[in-house]
Amino acid sequence: MVWLAARNRQIDTENAFRVGPLIAAVEARGQSVVKLNFGEPDFPLPVDIREAIKAALDAGATRYCDPQGTLSLRTAIAEHAGCRRGFEIDPACVVVFPGGKPAIGLSQQVYCDPGDEVIYPSPGFPIYESFIRYVGAVPVPLHLNAETGFSVDPDALEALITPRTRMVFLNFPSNPTGGVASRAHLEALAAVIEAKCGPDVRVFSDEIYEDILFDGAEHASIASLPSLRSRTVIASGFSKTFAWTGGRVGYAILPNAEEAACFRQLNINYFSCVPAYNQAAAEVALQAPAVWEAVAAMTRTFEGRRDTVLAALDSVPGMHAETPGGAFYVFPEISGVCDALDLVGYHAALPEPLRAATAPASLFQLFALDVHGVAVLDRRAFGKIGSEGMAFLRLSIAASDAELLEGVARLRNAATDREGLNRFLDAGKWQAMV
Ligand code: PLP
Repeated sequence: MVWLAARNRQIDTENAFRVGPLIAAVEARGQSVVKLNFGEPDFPLPVDIREAIKAALDAGATRYCDPQGTLSLRTAIAEHAGCRRGFEIDPACVVVFPGGKPAIGLSQQVYCDPGDEVIYPSPGFPIYESFIRYVGAVPVPLHLNAETGFSVDPDALEALITPRTRMVFLNFPSNPTGGVASRAHLEALAAVIEAKCGPDVRVFSDEIYEDILFDGAEHASIASLPSLRSRTVIASGFSKTFAWTGGRVGYAILPNAEEAACFRQLNINYFSCVPAYNQAAAEVALQAPAVWEAVAAMTRTFEGRRDTVLAALDSVPGMHAETPGGAFYVFPEISGVCDALDLVGYHAALPEPLRAATAPASLFQLFALDVHGVAVLDRRAFGKIGSEGMAFLRLSIAASDAELLEGVARLRNAATDREGLNRFLDAGKWQAMV
């Protein structure tokens, strides 16, 4: 066993990446897999962005640049994000990162001392929970319920706030639930935060799905509320809106230039800068009308797929999904499936390390992949602490209608294949997949 610092045991992962090798193993056996596990738009990069990357490369933008992000991109982000949220943003408050993800862990490093408490939605993007203990802080999950449309209940939030609360993570539209927040809802959350938190508590508002909204909804940001402006870190990025996950461009807008400078300092320490040619193209992405037409077309397609998947899931006994208002995921509750397959009893009888590392829905997820060839993620992939007894799956709808229908058909087969499940569990091979 190699020697590793203790904090390595405190960090978790994003399971969407972890299932990759499991999928490869199934495919290596010659079996097809419908992949509904990854949060990556299945659309081509808009042409103007592609051309802008090439032009920037040809122009020699291949060297170190400003660790905070080029002034030109920060100015474009400040204009775009400020215009959308209805207030002026100083480019000195903008910091560019390699994707939307780094802002999460870096902000926990910037704001939290050991023992500070971090409130975050669960189910939620797994990196919120993953990093908290790594920085010595205390995770405080705010559990969201399907019955209330996975909204963040102001009373539930209020009950979790203590004098040690240092950060509150919010994410609308949400991964994995697709939940969105109206301005009135954000006002109710803001009232709680204002009343119960000191001015130094930071709200991390992850708005990376801000452009992928359905049913004519418009994005609402908690930073637009004057009382929250000086306490909010707005986080967003280019991966989802522009189907550009490989570009690794994201950003945060800090409440003031002093806090932005702390992030700049961490950027210098960790990675120096984000490639300048991608930053040049990101600026084009924000400004080119044709790019926004592509974004609108992609969003309409996601909305149609959402409806297709919801209708198909109706035919799966024991699964029920709320209607997501944005992002590109459907998150059905599957406790009926786990009961019908007696997975709850099987799970309860497992020896401790295996029981702690799984849930009934995890066993179903592994079975659905290994035997029925459909890759999805289970509830535990979106926050483990306190998730016992909760059974959900996340289906990414970043796949064609045909793939989605085939994927749901495979889930239906898995949900009714008691014999196949028993063989799979008895063989014990699944234990190496956990
Ligand atoms: N925040 C949320 C809520 C996400 O779902 C994701 C990606 O899935 C990210 C942040 C990170 O995005 P990026 O790929 O730009 O790092």
